[in-house]
Amino acid sequence: MRLERHPILEFVRGKRITFTFDGESIEAYEGETIAAALHAAGIRVLSRTRSGAPRGLFCAIGKCSSCLMTVDGIPNVRTCVTPIREGMVVESQRGPGKLNPVFRHRPHEAVCKEAEVVIVGAGPAGLSAAKVLLNHGIRPLVLDENPHLGGQLIKQTHKFFGSRAERAGTRGFSIADELVEEIEGEAEILRQARVLGLYCEDGRRVLAVAHAEKLLLVAAKDLVVATGAQERFLLFPGNHLPGVYGAGAVQTLMNVYGVKPGERALMVGAGNVGLIVSYQLLQAGVEVDAVVEAMPEIGGYHVHAAKIRRLGVPILTSHTVVRALGKERVEGAMIAQIDGKFEPIPGTERELAVDLICLAVGLNPSTRLLEQAGAQMGYVPELGGRVPLHSPLMETTVPGVYVAGDCAGIGEASTAMLEGELAAFSLLAKKRFEVREKIALVQRSLEKLRRGPFGERPRTGKEKVFTLMKEVAVG
Ligand SMILES: Cc1cc2nc3c(=O)[nH]c(=O)nc-3n(C[C@H](O)[C@H](O)[C@H](O)COP(=O)(O)OP(=O)(O)OC[C@H]3O[C@@H](n4cnc5c(N)ncnc54)[C@H](O)[C@@H]3O)c2cc1C
Repeated sequence: MRLERHPILEFVRGKRITFTFDGESIEAYEGETIAAALHAAGIRVLSRTRSGAPRGLFCAIGKCSSCLMTVDGIPNVRTCVTPIREGMVVESQRGPGKLNPVFRHRPHEAVCKEAEVVIVGAGPAGLSAAKVLLNHGIRPLVLDENPHLGGQLIKQTHKFFGSRAERAGTRGFSIADELVEEIEGEAEILRQARVLGLYCEDGRRVLAVAHAEKLLLVAAKDLVVATGAQERFLLFPGNHLPGVYGAGAVQTLMNVYGVKPGERALMVGAGNVGLIVSYQLLQAGVEVDAVVEAMPEIGGYHVHAAKIRRLGVPILTSHTVVRALGKERVEGAMIAQIDGKFEPIPGTERELAVDLICLAVGLNPSTRLLEQAGAQMGYVPELGGRVPLHSPLMETTVPGVYVAGDCAGIGEASTAMLEGELAAFSLLAKKRFEVREKIALVQRSLEKLRRGPFGERPRTGKEKVFTLMKEVAVG
């Protein structure tokens, strides 16, 4: 299941190590996550629900609960973002799992810390915000729950579309490397630092962070939240089976860890993500039986569609997945044509012998921390659902808390980088730095990117957010 050759990527693996899974000894490489190592060993059923239904990896970025397992006696560990270590004891769990009594009375001290500016999330938005702050003499504390910095970019092997000024034409993972290089050694960076809670009261902003088996309590003067997005799920019988993945998870397995997610795939969704990931599956040697798209038109760029069609992959519009087949893992998929009301048309069902169903049906902004902090939210479908209301300068309804990137409304890496810069400049303006011209420049670049047919949805969405924000300010 490990990829040895790839047309673009070279996989440099760490030291060989051994761990156990349900008592069985398994070999892995240092630097892999537990879930990636298990997949490489062909193990897809990671845990079971209380009723015994199998559960497998779904998001691979620490956002859902599909990969929770018991590790070294501790239940509910997110194995998709936890690196494997020599001698680890990994066990599948049933339901919520049980805490080993040894840990029950272990004292846990919180470590307190202060920072002038904290940035949550080191994707393109967070990294761009950090760079602007560093350029103005402020050393931010950057927290990211993943072991690698760069957010979604680290698994993008294609050359980016968007604006040249925002590095279009460069492969996603190279953009991530460049952004990280620009701040590494300058900003204070904590990897595998999951922000669990954000408390904003009486002008104080405190973050609860799980890091290196400790609880950190960080008091921040100002805060940029750039937590990105999470993949949407789809309702159909069998969607719980291991082998139903979000498109991002498939990319993480293939492009970050060099692990093949399956042998034959069905892609659900013909937006840019579905089309790009289909091509990446083919590059990894996975057959793609079909791409199904519920809408009558392909949503992504036609250049991406043409690429996979040339390689023999049919794109079936007005089609959907109606069922995943299999008991313990995906062994097939039933697809069907749908009518104008998105209902399957009887007699059009077709079975595909796939072991992988990949969902690329959109993203929702990751807003949990902001909601917890009391930021006012609005439902804006053009931006992916519930979004934090914010001003054109990226400040939320909680003073001193700024947002940027996909968590402020689903967009692209180019707009995420610009919003990160804008949030940082806006924060600097409040601290009386003379940055008015810089703000105007970034705003003009954002407007330019959102012009044109593909910018229409985010442009309309942002206008709605700014209007709602104004209403809140007046009310
Ligand atoms: C297949 C695919 C192809 C794409 N192609 C393009 C393209 O060609 N051009 C383009 O411009 N865009 C493209 N995009 C979109 C682009 O990747 C995203 O819009 C961009 O990555 C969003 O940046 P972000 O910084 O807002 O979020 P992300 O990149 O998602 O980063 C968010 C970061 O926050 C961290 N985080 C989240 N919650 C917490 C927490 N509680 N505690 C600590 N850390 C946390 C995460 O670990 C992550 O590192 C593509 C996306 C996909 C999936």
